[in-house]
Amino acid sequence: MSAVLEQFLQGLDAEIRAAGDWGEVAAYIPELARVDPAQFGIAIALPGGGMVAAGQSGQRFSIQSVSKVFSLACVLGRIGEQIWTRVGREPSGRRFDSILSLEDERGRPRNPFINAGALVTTDELLAGRVPKEALAEILGFLRAAAEDGDIHIDKAVAGSEAETGYRNVALANYLKSFGNLRNPPEITLGTYFHQCAIEMSCVQLARAGRVIAGLAGAPAMLSPVKARRISALMMMCGHYDGSGDFAFRVGLPGKSGVGGGILLVAPGRASVAIWSPGLNGYGNSQMGTYAAERLARETGWSVFG
Ligand code: GLU
Repeated sequence: MSAVLEQFLQGLDAEIRAAGDWGEVAAYIPELARVDPAQFGIAIALPGGGMVAAGQSGQRFSIQSVSKVFSLACVLGRIGEQIWTRVGREPSGRRFDSILSLEDERGRPRNPFINAGALVTTDELLAGRVPKEALAEILGFLRAAAEDGDIHIDKAVAGSEAETGYRNVALANYLKSFGNLRNPPEITLGTYFHQCAIEMSCVQLARAGRVIAGLAGAPAMLSPVKARRISALMMMCGHYDGSGDFAFRVGLPGKSGVGGGILLVAPGRASVAIWSPGLNGYGNSQMGTYAAERLARETGWSVFG
């Protein structure tokens, strides 16, 4: 199995590089705008500890919104179902940073993966703690899940987003006006920007995703019911207003970030991390989405059979 998969990934890597159809890097965060879009890496963690990888699978990148999966896992561990009083579980059908549905829903974001919903999740993680402690919990979760202590925050990326993140500032203030932010907006925002600025390689991210995919041999950190619920949210909401298209093309729960990362889970079978920093019109990795589609077709891992 691994040898066939390895060969497939090598071919996919070569094909993607030859096509050169990379998309555009996220320009609204200056530090990310400097990244070369012509990069690609993929890593697949298998049950029992196996790992197959190709391309720049060891290169670290800014995980950005992929971090929202893990901050949600931390919050579910802390307060469980109570989080759903503050944030919904419905696809948004809108851009990741849209303010429109917040007005309609009176400050209760539609899901924890759009920016407004992730701000609420991070705000909850800050309950009774300073930002450093909340960030230590997210980093601790990732390090334990990946069984790798060498996972850190890129302070330059966090600072860069803090300087230009006007939309997120607007979202946080809006949430505050509806009484759905407990901390001062600048505290929640600073924590959120740092969480998004965690950098990891595909190999590290695929290893961390094992706890959501429920792979044999993964650290026992999430109950099966929590892993199932997080996966359901990834399927419905993990790619913003491109979530339907991603489900149609790939058929697996996934979460993207504007750094070009995608975490993909094939429950019980594999945890996959893909990175290519050029984005499509939805703000999801262009070649990452293509690679996910090819992989699902090749392996038959789609949850829809
Ligand atoms: N830090 C980014 C933002 O809030 C995350 C968005 C994303 O990765 O989709 O704009």
